Amino acid sequence: MTNRSPWIHQLKKDRQVVTLASDVETDVAIVGAGIAGISTAYFILKNTDKKVVVLERGKFAHGATGHNAGQIASYFERPFYELADEFGLEKAAEAQLAVESAWTLLDLMYTEAGLDLPLSRFIGHAGLSTYDHVVRHLKDNQYRKRAGMKTEIFKVSADAPFVSAIPAEYAELYDVVPQTEIEELLQTKNTTYKAVISFQKGCLNSALFCQEIIEFLTKTYPDRFALYEHTPIHKVVLHGGRALLDAGKRTVTAGRVILCTNGFETLNIINEGGLAIDTKFHHLVRGMVGYMSAYVEPMNKPPTAISYFEPASVDSDDPYASDPYFYLTRRQFDAEGVKGMNLISVGGPEFSLDQRSEYTTDLDYPEQEKANIDAFVKSTYDIDPNKKIDYQYTWHGLMGYTPSGLRVVGEEPKNPVLLYNLGCNGVGILPSIYGADRISKIIKGEKPAPSIFDPRG
Ligand SMILES: Cc1cc2nc3c(=O)[nH]c(=O)nc-3n(C[C@H](O)[C@H](O)[C@H](O)COP(=O)(O)OP(=O)(O)OC[C@H]3O[C@@H](n4cnc5c(N)ncnc54)[C@H](O)[C@@H]3O)c2cc1C
Repeated sequence: MTNRSPWIHQLKKDRQVVTLASDVETDVAIVGAGIAGISTAYFILKNTDKKVVVLERGKFAHGATGHNAGQIASYFERPFYELADEFGLEKAAEAQLAVESAWTLLDLMYTEAGLDLPLSRFIGHAGLSTYDHVVRHLKDNQYRKRAGMKTEIFKVSADAPFVSAIPAEYAELYDVVPQTEIEELLQTKNTTYKAVISFQKGCLNSALFCQEIIEFLTKTYPDRFALYEHTPIHKVVLHGGRALLDAGKRTVTAGRVILCTNGFETLNIINEGGLAIDTKFHHLVRGMVGYMSAYVEPMNKPPTAISYFEPASVDSDDPYASDPYFYLTRRQFDAEGVKGMNLISVGGPEFSLDQRSEYTTDLDYPEQEKANIDAFVKSTYDIDPNKKIDYQYTWHGLMGYTPSGLRVVGEEPKNPVLLYNLGCNGVGILPSIYGADRISKIIKGEKPAPSIFDPRG
């Protein structure tokens, strides 16, 4: 089976692709044309008068941006309390609010660029099945409350075998409800799930989003914006106040260079303007391949996003290992040959890459992953379990986990000519947009307050 993503299927096929054909000079060079690179270009063009060139080794939005689950979510993939313990409650809360603020930035981009691709927003849900899940998430809620932030709506089933064992300190943070209410919220008849947390979520095709933003930038800033595809950058040489980018036969000279490469760049960074840059964190980015399948059904239900945390199936010493979970979105979907339907897309299975392993988007999609997703859908989603589901799309994409599990946004401490907005995790749409705005402020000359996303020395 091939890697066939519904998000890429919705892109224009008859587009003209421009490759870098001569040397170029610019104020800002952005490497990588996923949602991070394109949003970074957007905010720099909006907030400054700089010229921006975006360089992409393949086609725009064909990396993680075109192979994700397209769910807009604002949570970190580490418990909030853990971030608070590591960085302090105030800094963790600032970071959480910063990511949530990207909802407003997204609205602004929609309005200003006149985007017309579907964006749905709703209260999404996550089903929890064990005492550990419930207590971990309640602890998060407790920390959110302490930080003065909005807490997640939390409901625990009266039938949960552990309901009376939940520590009294969390009593204010959840309601006990009938099991039927849990199942209704999760749209399932599967009784595995004993609690639900609910928070704002949404659905977006982030590849189509990039396409429309690129069209807007091309029209609005014809003299200040250019995108070159099929233009891999092999080397970045940093000097005191500028950078040279080696694009094979061509050279790009830029005042600043921003890596929006998802953390898997295959480029060398040479710092002629100071101490050698420790690129170790680039090599430490840990790759996880996520697998997804999708099918269409009549459009008779509203958009939603629901995650289902199952009981742990393995004991593991791997600090990154988490309990297995599946995530499902339902949204309106139109594409060539598919009109006015709902798309049900489901992900869950993940596969860890060795640090140095190569990943390519044209790797086959394993039958086993499709079978795992199919078994989950039939045991959990509101569908006749005897019906054969025709999955029109099966795809995989690469998530990059930085050692801290956080996105890296800001100036390289050893040479501020270089900046980063990278290190996608499994939740990267809002963080990329937040990072884009923050980078634009730095380029403008502002000095944003330190944050837990800052690159470390
Ligand atoms: C299976 C899966 C499910 C996900 N689900 C969600 C979700 O539901 N919600 C969510 O918020 N996030 C999700 N994510 C994460 C989200 O997709 C990413 O965080 C986001 O797309 C990252 O965008 P990016 O622009 O940083 O990276 P990418 O989209 O990967 O873009 C990086 C670009 O840089 C280019 N590049 C790299 N090196 C070079 C070079 N040397 N020269 C030129 N170009 C180069 C690449 O070709 C690529 O196009 C998911 C990811 C995966 C894989």
